[in-house]
Amino acid sequence: MTTTHTILLVDDDEVDIMAVSRALKELNVTNPVAVCRNGKEALQWLKTHPKPGLVLLDLRMPVMDGLEFLANAKNDLNLKTIPVVALTTSKEESDRIQAFNLGIAGFMVKPVDPKLYLSVIKTISIYWHTSELPY
Ligand SMILES: [Mg+2]
Repeated sequence: MTTTHTILLVDDDEVDIMAVSRALKELNVTNPVAVCRNGKEALQWLKTHPKPGLVLLDLRMPVMDGLEFLANAKNDLNLKTIPVVALTTSKEESDRIQAFNLGIAGFMVKPVDPKLYLSVIKTISIYWHTSELPY
């Protein structure tokens, strides 16, 4: 993705939103960052904005959780090519298997210590800034 692509963060936890935003800033990632608090909000956002370069997806959210969002997005011809990476506290095997079955591009476990976000976000950022997008 280029620096003009938006990074869409879908998460209901304010502390995690802050930690990811701070990590992106520290890494000098200049992409615009949009935040949605649940899957339903994210689907609505995607309908009204240009495709983001990357969606960082929490799994445990109210209203519509991450897996339901993913199922909806991957079932939509217009949205299915958007890279979605799970960023979650869930270590449940069933979540992981289901997420990959639904076409998740990566599955990252949130660090317990918010300070450790930096290395996880750095890895994701370098990878997706190096990777070309289909749009
Ligand atoms: Mg959550």
